[in-house]
Formats: sequence, structure tokens, C-alpha cells
Amino acid sequence: MDGVTSQENRQARQRPVWVNPLFGVTDPASGITAVPPRRRLPEGPMTPSAVSRLIRDELMLDGNPRLNLATFVSTWMEPEAHALMGDTADRNLVDRDEYPATAELEQRCIPMLRHLWNAPDPDASLGTSTIGSSEACMLGGMALKRRWVHRNPDRYAAGARPNLVMGVNIQVCWKKFCNYWEVEPRLVPMEGDRFHLGAEEAAGQCDENTIGVVTVLGSTMDGSYEPVADICAALDALEERTGWSVPVHVDAASGGMIAPFLEPDLVWDFRLPRVASINVSGHKYGMVYPGLGWVLWRDREALPGDLVEHVNYLGGDVATFTLNFSRPGSQVVAQYYNFLRLGHEGFRQVQGALREVATHLARQIEGLGCFRLLTRGDQLPVFAFTTTDDVTRFNVYDVSRRLREWGWLVPAYTFPPNRQDLQVLRVVCRNGFSLDLADRLVDDLRGLLPWLRKQPGPMFGPEEGTSFHH
Ligand SMILES: *Cc1c(COP(=O)(O)O)cnc(C)c1O
Repeated sequence: MDGVTSQENRQARQRPVWVNPLFGVTDPASGITAVPPRRRLPEGPMTPSAVSRLIRDELMLDGNPRLNLATFVSTWMEPEAHALMGDTADRNLVDRDEYPATAELEQRCIPMLRHLWNAPDPDASLGTSTIGSSEACMLGGMALKRRWVHRNPDRYAAGARPNLVMGVNIQVCWKKFCNYWEVEPRLVPMEGDRFHLGAEEAAGQCDENTIGVVTVLGSTMDGSYEPVADICAALDALEERTGWSVPVHVDAASGGMIAPFLEPDLVWDFRLPRVASINVSGHKYGMVYPGLGWVLWRDREALPGDLVEHVNYLGGDVATFTLNFSRPGSQVVAQYYNFLRLGHEGFRQVQGALREVATHLARQIEGLGCFRLLTRGDQLPVFAFTTTDDVTRFNVYDVSRRLREWGWLVPAYTFPPNRQDLQVLRVVCRNGFSLDLADRLVDDLRGLLPWLRKQPGPMFGPEEGTSFHH
């Protein structure tokens, strides 16, 4: 990052923020406009109106969140939910004694989710809200590790290194978990048309030091569901052969709020005795603004008691198993709003409509003739596609770049081992993305093709590619 550009960038960073004189920050006495420095705390205050106009102007350069087909995270909520979140922005969720009503709403959401995921005892308070699935996954992973330590005190003391088995398509939070908590990640590579974890491959990676298997519903790479039940069955067979009992954590960051409504008969949740814990992102298909996640454990055995801390300095005895202490309460309020607002049938309709948009859009894109679908949007309302073999003059990165000119944010990226040869585009359909918008996207894509076909060859590569969002 050396050279002219970085020098120019450095100078730009040191220039003060430009302030429109209309904003009224000119000091009447001196006539001098107060210009806040860009990267230092300003000397003095500015008026609220000037600051807010200044910041709104800066934020104009963000992409339009509704046209952001890269993210899984909510970009639209009802005005009533907005208002509710604004009104509760002053609640700290951890102050349970001070805000018992907010705390109560969290304690209502947990059994709702436990019931939705068929936990044996829906009313057991074995779960917590988190700041997102990443924190939820850390907690799930820590419980797996601690259980393994309890079961293997001698091996642990002798320096055995615990490992966690998962597909290479795993979300980055699991790599962080393994890195931060010193667990060996055992990543099963993709092979051929298998773009996620397979049952035999998962069981094949396990040994006496395996703390668990993580399986994803659905994969951030292509929206596909991993075969959770088959993975559990393979681990049952492994246990019979070897005596190693390997628990499963289901990372249902997205699918946890899709599958129960659209595939009630798909058995992926606590109905499988081997499933010890499940997480979901409230801010993905739970349709709350970021950041909110949930994690639930099957039973007391799945959540070692020595991980739970008790604090009494807020008044009362509060049991906590989270990484963050203070957290916003308004996200939980908004989740409760969505639960009451939609109910089971409402969720079924909303998620069903999304799947219709996703499968429709996938078919339309396939119909353009130069793209091959890797998934069809019929599991998560998410699909990945690549260019057909006869396309030589442009690649997925060119498509992503060109779509951006129309405001569409569609990420392009390379698949992980052993399918690095596959370069894909991915579309995530979320609430707020309509059939009409989907048709607009297809029209824009169709309009780009003649230009792309005139290129002498691909113009962009992974280096300049748009970033991959989970
Ligand atoms: C998004 C995602 C995560 C991380 O979730 P955050 O809520 O963004 O922290 C983890 N796993 C999967 C499968 C995801 O899709």
C-alpha cells in the first residue's frame, strides 16, 4: 500500500471535514467556520443540527441497503418496529433487575424458539440471546469443549489437542472460535458437486479428541442445507464402532428461521438426540436489525454448569453465559415484536414469499443462457451461480462490477478447497426484496450482457472482487 495513492490518501485523511456554510456552524463573532478535523477529536462542540446534517451527507455514499443482495442481515423493518426500537434504545439488556420487562421479553422468546426447534423441554431456560450468531457459536463451541474436557480429564491434562469437525464452507466465526479457544479446526473440503459437509466425511474426521461436529443449515457459500440427520446417523454408527460419542452443534444462523416454517418435516433440530445446541441470527431471517443472535442447549448435560457465572451486583442473582456483558435491549424487543406480529402462519407466508422470489429469480437468471445455477434458492432463499463454460469474455467479477453501476450489490467470490476453480455470484433474498425488484435485476443483467460479451476478455479478478459477506 505504498506509493502515490497512499500518500494522497494520507493527506486526504488529514484534511478537515468540509462543512457547508449553510449548516450554520459559522461563529457570528469571528465569522470563522468551525471545521472539525477528520481523525482527531474536535477542539469544541458543534450544534446538533449541523453535526447531524454533516453525518447524513457522509452516509449518502453508502450503498442502498435494500439493493444489497450480499448480506443476510435485515435491511428492512416495519415503521412500528423502528419506533419501538428507538423508544427502547436506552435499555441495557444486562440490567435485568432494573428493566425486568425487557428481560421478561427475552425470557419469552427463548421458549418460543425452543418449541419451534422441538427441544425436549421447551420451558427450560437453557439458552440466551447474544449480539449475533458469532457470539452464539462461540458459546456453543465453548460448551462442546468444556464437555470434552470433563469427559477426558486425563487426556486433556496430558496435552491432547481437542478438535472440531466441520465443512470448509463454514462461516468465519468457527475459524475464530478454533483460533481463540485453541481447538484444532478439521475442515472437510468440497469435492465435486458436494459444496458442504457430507455425513461419511464428517464421521471420518472424528477421533477421541473431537469435541463435536458443526453442521450448517444452510451454507453461507450457496444457501444449501447440510444433511444434519445423515451426519447424526453417521456419528451414531461411529459411536457404535468406537465408543466415541460426538455431539453436534447446528449452526442454523439463517435456516433456523426458515426450515421450521417451510419444511416442518425436515428433521434437523432437537428431534435428533445427538443435536446438543443450535444457534440462529435474530438479525437474519428473524428479521430484526443487527445485532441479535440466539443459542439454545438441549438439556443441562449439554451446557456444563461451570460455564455459567452468577452476578449479584445489579441486585438479584443473575446467571449469565455470554461473552458480552452490556447489550442493547431494543433488538430483543424487536424480536418479540416480530414473533407476535407474524406468529407461525405469518412467518410461513413471509418466508414462503421469499423462497418464491428466490426460486423465480434463479430460474430467470438461468434462462439468460450464460449462467449455470449451483443452487436454486429452494432451501435458504439464497442461490449461487457461475458462468457457463462457453463464456470466455467476462467472468463473475465483471458481472458484479457492472451490476454495481445500477446500484445492485451482488458479491462474487471463489469457492474454498477443493473447488477453488469455481467462481460464483451469490444472491441473498431477504424481506423487502420483492418479485418486482427481482425482475428489475434480471432486466438490468440482461441489459449488461451485450456489453460484457463485447469485452476482449475478463477485466476483473478476485483481487478487485467485491467483498464476500456472510
Ligand atoms: C451469518 C452467519 C454466522 C455469523 O453470524 P452473525 O450473526 O453475523 O454474527 C455464522 N454462521 C452462519 C452459517 C452464518 O450464516
